[in-house]
Amino acid sequence: MAKIRELIEQAGGTAEEAVVAAKNRYLDQVRGVLRDLTRLKFTDRQGVMAHELAHAYTHVGLDSNSNRWEDGECDKGIVEGLAQFYTHKTAEALRDERGHDRVWIAHARLTDLQKANGATAYVNHLDWVKTISPEAMRQGLLDLRRGHIKREFEPFCEALNYLARRYPMKGERSL
Ligand SMILES: [Zn+2]
Repeated sequence: MAKIRELIEQAGGTAEEAVVAAKNRYLDQVRGVLRDLTRLKFTDRQGVMAHELAHAYTHVGLDSNSNRWEDGECDKGIVEGLAQFYTHKTAEALRDERGHDRVWIAHARLTDLQKANGATAYVNHLDWVKTISPEAMRQGLLDLRRGHIKREFEPFCEALNYLARRYPMKGERSL
C-alpha cells in the first residue's frame, strides 16, 4: 500500500495517473532487462530468463486469495534467494530433457560467477536446495506473504529450517 500511495502522490493525485506511472516504471524495468539480455550469450539468456520468470512466480500478481504481495520491504537475500531457488529447481528438472539442459548449464555457470563475485544474495539458495524441500519452501512463501515471517534474511532462514522439519525432503519422516 505504501508503494501505491507513493505512486499516487508522485503522479499528482488520481488513481488512473498512478496506474500509468506504475506501468511506465514496470516497462522501464522490462526494457532494462531486455537490454541486458541482448548483451549475453544465448544460453546465458535462457538462464537469466528462467530467473526473471521465477521472480514473477514468487512476487508478481495475486495469490490464490487475490491478495497482492508487496515485496518492496523484503530483504534482497530473500527476494533473490527465492528466485534462485525456483530457477535451480526448474533448471534441475529440465537437466535430463534433451535440448533443455542448456538452462541448467547457464544457471550453474551464472551462479558460479555470482559466487566468485561475492554476490551472496544470489548464492544463498545453494544451502536451501540441499535442505529445504519444495513443500517447506511453498509454506515459507505463503507465511512470508501473509506476514507470519519477518521479511528479514535471518528470521526467514530460521523459519525455513523449522518448516524443513515439518515438511522434510521426499522419503524422509516429519519430526
Ligand atoms: Zn533477481
